[in-house]
Formats: sequence, structure tokens, C-alpha cells
Amino acid sequence: MQEMTHYIGGEHVKGTSGRFADVMNPATGEVQAKVPLASKEELDKAVEVAAAAQPAWAAVNPQRRARVLMAFVGLLNRDMDKLAEALSREHGKTFPDAKGDVQRGLEVVEYCIGAPQMLKGEYTDSAGPGIDIYSMRQALGVTAGITPFNFPAMIPMWMFAPAIACGNAFILKPSERDPSVPLMLAELMEEAGLPKGILQVVNGDKESVDAILDNEVIQSVGFVGSTPIAEYIYSRGCAAGKRVQCFGGAKNHMIIMPDADMDQAADALVGAGYGAAGERCMAISVAVPVGDETADRLIEKLIPRVEKLKVGPYTAGDDVDYGPVVTKAAKENILRLVQTGVDQGAKLVVDGRDFSLQGYEDGFFVGAHLFDHVTTDMDIYKTEIFGPVLSTVRAKTYEEALGHAMDHEYGNGTAIFTRDGDTARDFANRINIGMVGVNVPIPVPLAYHTFGGWKKSAFGDLNQHGPDAFKFYTRTKTVTARWPSGLKEGGEFHFKAMD
Ligand code: NAD
Repeated sequence: MQEMTHYIGGEHVKGTSGRFADVMNPATGEVQAKVPLASKEELDKAVEVAAAAQPAWAAVNPQRRARVLMAFVGLLNRDMDKLAEALSREHGKTFPDAKGDVQRGLEVVEYCIGAPQMLKGEYTDSAGPGIDIYSMRQALGVTAGITPFNFPAMIPMWMFAPAIACGNAFILKPSERDPSVPLMLAELMEEAGLPKGILQVVNGDKESVDAILDNEVIQSVGFVGSTPIAEYIYSRGCAAGKRVQCFGGAKNHMIIMPDADMDQAADALVGAGYGAAGERCMAISVAVPVGDETADRLIEKLIPRVEKLKVGPYTAGDDVDYGPVVTKAAKENILRLVQTGVDQGAKLVVDGRDFSLQGYEDGFFVGAHLFDHVTTDMDIYKTEIFGPVLSTVRAKTYEEALGHAMDHEYGNGTAIFTRDGDTARDFANRINIGMVGVNVPIPVPLAYHTFGGWKKSAFGDLNQHGPDAFKFYTRTKTVTARWPSGLKEGGEFHFKAMD
């Protein structure tokens, strides 16, 4: 049994707490490694190392820091297949999807190569008589990030690339479900030239998260995961005086207007609803067709598409549509919620409950489910299922459909499918959700824009990546300077004769 490590001070370090978590292969249901769960002492040790290394890193000029990221991009491309394979093995997502996970993180790294430009301050010449004012963006010091299982490459890179580009040290506490890729990323950053101690990986669970929140040296905490934990970390981190940015769960609605191209909408729903087994915070989990006729046409198009989905392990090749979910507990929870949908009166028009994959009976595979006639009081509507389950809520009018998306407690992403520009524009303007797609099912902004939800999907005021990241990982200092008259008036330019 492989025993994994932490990555502290540039070394792979064995865990000393005596506590471990199982790292599963979700396709086979086997335990493939044990990951150590750090104690408070182990986390505090990493913070000491980070604090010692960080001032010298902050003093490196931004262009040289950016060159480390440039080299890192080259190494990510070199090791793309290796990273994607490790990611699929622990997470279960298909190989092309795992490469996408690395690629979307890589794009944030590319954006952060622009750090010298992003970190330039402001300057006012002669703000008063002989007075200039200028501002500079300075690193916070030691920063930390806590990441979820569903994007073990992209989300750590969302955080550590800008943090490190700004001159901070960063401690990553990745998900204990799939810790291999975060460890590999830390090794690659050092191969790219990053000094030891600037990026460290401390594996763990609640104990190490609490140690991060309690450590007074850590200046900021980034979190991505489920909403209850996001709220916990946000409130406790803020109370400790830290800068905190927390991103939570989602229930993303797609509104389908009667004038939408129904084939396009159905294809989009199948990709966005079932891709990565529905384990994406930007997955579409609720379809809201407007009008019964639209709903009937949509369901008719969806059923054959959903029934055709190919479920399998990442090793089965590129034509697999999605893989297993992450744990046995996740599978059981999804099937439990499906049962509540049936019990509460929704119509299960594609039933994946009996799905089993020959040769992989112990894997955590879940068949695709499609519900029609879901109502807003049902558990399957209110809860984030995070599985291959799409719920259809029929709305009579556009206003009713808009209202459903607006009234849901989550506000991560949403989409509208229509051919009418006026409806699309009205939707984009009025909706109280952070990321909006118009005929685009998963509107994840690219690295140079910012990513973030509203309502119970995000806590804190700055988004991930894009210009917001440079604000989150720096403090602004403003200098007002007046210099007394210098040599130009009172200077002596001749040798004085000795008296
Ligand atoms: P999770 O909340 O269970 O875990 C996230 C992190 O928190 C992990 O590192 C975990 O070790 C830690 N953690 C777990 N329990 C804890 C506790 N009691 N105290 C302190 N820390 C704890 O989430 P997950 O299952 O890994 O990820 C799936 C969730 O993440 C979904 O809700 C999904 O919507 C959300 N997500 C959101 C976004 C976004 O940008 N909004 C992106 C990806 C995932």
C-alpha cells in the first residue's frame, strides 16, 4: 500500500500524526494509497518554513517571478498525460476531461505571467506643491488555500499561481480524496525554479483546516468546496482577521425558451448535466423549459440522448462520456436523493438506478437519471445532488422560469437558450447569479475574466482569477511624498579654499 506524503520545504515528508485517509480508485472501488492527515503541529511547521522563505521571494522582481511561471507552463505541457492519468485514477473523470482540468489551470498560470503589468501601482505627480502620491501592491506574506476533490489541478492553480506571482508563499491543503496531482504540481513548480518553501502541500482534513484558520501568520485563506464548509471557513477566518474568499455549492438552471434550437439545447443539457458525472460546480442540474409544448419537445429529444450515454472507467478510451463518482458514500447519497424524487412525485423518465458495469461491480458508477415534472418543494430541486441527475421543472412563462432561478438559494451559474436577443438581454441583466450563459451551457469565464457565484455560492467580495486575484493576493500601500529642496539649490560645486 503506497503511503503518500506532505510536501514541505521542498521535500516529501511523511505524516507524523498517525492519521490517514484512504485514496480510492473510484472505478474499481479499491484503496490505492493512504494519504496522511496533518496535525496542527505539522501545519504550523509548514507555516514557519513559508514565513522564512517568503520575504526573499517577494524581493525577487516580478518579471523574474513570472519567468518561473513561464517555465512551469512548459512543464505542465510536458507532463500533461502523466498528470491527467493520475487525476483520472483518483478522481474517476475521463482522460480528456482530466486534461481539461489541467489545461484550465494552466491558462490561469499563463494569465499570471502578466504579473509585472498587473502589479504596477498608480502615480500622481504634483498632488500638492512638491508632493507626489503613489501606490504599490505588496504581497500579503503567507497565504493558504483549501480545495475540493472535483478539480484537483485547476482549482489549486486558480489560487497558487496568482498568490505566488504576487510574491506570497502559499500552503495548499488539497482534498484528501485526490492528493496526487497537487503534490505533482508542487514538484513541477520547484523544477521550474521556485525556491523551496514557497509552495507547500499539507494533506489533511478538518484538523489541518482549523490549524490554518487558527494560525496567526497566515494572512489569507481561499476555499472552494461545499456551502456549509464555505460558510464555516468564511465566518471563522474573518473572525480571526484574515482575508477570506470562499466558494460553495450550486444548483444551476438552464432556461429553454420556445424559440430555442431544441437539438442544440438538448445536446448542451446532456453535456452540461452529465459530463464529469455531474460533479462540476458549473454543471446544469435543472432544465426549465418554458411552456408545456417546449417541455414535451425537449424531453423527447433528451430521453434518447441520456439513454445513450456511455459510462465507464477512464481506461476504456475516449468514447466514454463520464466515469464513476468519487466515493461509495457519494453514490449512495445520489441514489438516496433519486429515491426521494420518486417518492415525492417527480416522474423519472430515464431510470439509472439498476445500472451496473460488468467487470467493475465494485466501482462507484451511477447510471444517468432524467426527471420530469419536478417541483420546487422537492428535495431533488433544493439540494445539490452532484451526480448524473437532471431535473426538469416546467414553467408556464419566462417570468416564472426566471423566478425559479432567482429564488434558488444558490447562484453560481445559469444559462438561457433562445433565438431572441431581447429575452437573452433581459435575462442577463436581471438574473441574480454570478455567471450567465446565452446559448452556452457552462459559462465558465476564461482566465483573464473572473470566476465567481452569488448568493450561497460565494462568500467574500473578490472572485477567482482575472484581475480580482491580484487584488486578493496583495495589499495596497499608498505613499505621499514631499522632498525638501535638494542639491540643485543649495549645493556647493567648488572646492572651498582653506581659511
Ligand atoms: P467539501 O466541502 O467536502 O471539501 C472541500 C475541502 O474542505 C476539502 O479540502 C476538505 O478536506 C475540506 N473539508 C471537508 N470537511 C471539512 C470540515 N468539516 N471542516 C473543514 N474542512 C473540511 O467539498 P468537495 O466534496 O470536495 O467538493 C464538492 C463541492 O465543491 C460541491 O459542493 C461543489 O459545488 C463545490 N465546488 C464549488 C466550486 C465553485 O467555484 N463554487 C468549484 C468546485 C466545487
